Amino acid sequence: MGKDYYSILGVQKTASADEIKKAYRRLAHEHHPDKGGDGQKFKDINDAYQVLGDSNKRAQYDRFGSAAFEQGGMGAGGFSGSPFGAGGFNVNFEDFGDLGDILGGMFGFGGKHRQKRGQDIQVDVTLDFKEAVFGADKIVKLYKHDACSECAGSGAAKGSKNISCKNCGGRGFVNRVQKSFFGAIQQQVICEECMGKGEKPEQPCNTCKGFGIMKIMKEIKVNIPAGISENEAMRMAGEGEHPGVGGQPGDLIIRIRIKRDPNFTREGNDILSIVHIPYSLMALGGKIQVDTVDGPVELKVPEATQAGTVFKLRGKGVPYMRSSGRGDHLITIEAKVEKKLSREQKQALERLREQGL
Ligand SMILES: [Zn+2]
Ligand SMILES: [Zn+2]
Repeated sequence: MGKDYYSILGVQKTASADEIKKAYRRLAHEHHPDKGGDGQKFKDINDAYQVLGDSNKRAQYDRFGSAAFEQGGMGAGGFSGSPFGAGGFNVNFEDFGDLGDILGGMFGFGGKHRQKRGQDIQVDVTLDFKEAVFGADKIVKLYKHDACSECAGSGAAKGSKNISCKNCGGRGFVNRVQKSFFGAIQQQVICEECMGKGEKPEQPCNTCKGFGIMKIMKEIKVNIPAGISENEAMRMAGEGEHPGVGGQPGDLIIRIRIKRDPNFTREGNDILSIVHIPYSLMALGGKIQVDTVDGPVELKVPEATQAGTVFKLRGKGVPYMRSSGRGDHLITIEAKVEKKLSREQKQALERLREQGL
């Protein structure tokens, strides 16, 4: 039992090519994930149009149903280029260049009709030690291409109507024959002239000359979660370079750097520090104040504490990013030897030496 592409597009089986195209445009606009639409629904709409929008495939579909066109079937690539759903595995055939086109076409991951995608932008954000522990809001300044503010990225002057694209005859794609080790493969590739829309504004926008983009300085607030580690990367979808009319912006990739701290170091989710205390305190025991990322904490040093002893302050370490709770703070005790001693102090130490201490 396959999918009913006609009902997905809400048209009759007898609908004309023009009616199908209009229904598709309206639905794709309505359900676009960038505008808060449902990704799966949007994909279904695109899948349906891939077939019904092509007279040969439509005829095949009318005879055999959708089975031949679905994932794993013969051709009829699904729509790609847009990351549907967060966190899902995303095959980016752009990375494979022409081979990606071929594989994409063969395995139904798109390759044709795909949207042009802008470049990702990578930036480093440097945090203080404590900012990495507790999280921080950081402002990233980017000088990048964004949608033109005058035409909102459409590339059209105000009030200009759209005319059919001459390059592709209004289809939005052109045929291309590609030689590969599988033999010659005919493919439909997105029309560069109209970016797959099939139409162009009669009067291009004056500000962006019809490209739909402009270079701007943009400040982006980045919410860095508590417990992030050095070299970890965060991805902000759609904050990369905008490629222009009909395209989809790339992502912003933020790589985390963490400044060294004079007192603390990190080992996973544990924080380490060394505290130097007088020999007499190690021998006799007592209370000391130690610095933690939460502020000073009192630590009881027992009698006869040896140099190198490690005390654990539970839950005073770095928060876990993927679960609740925190690591520990491990304090290593070392002896503090004063550089300058008074006469009385020296005499007192001499007496200890006489006793073999
Ligand atoms: Zn513009
Ligand atoms: Zn075109």
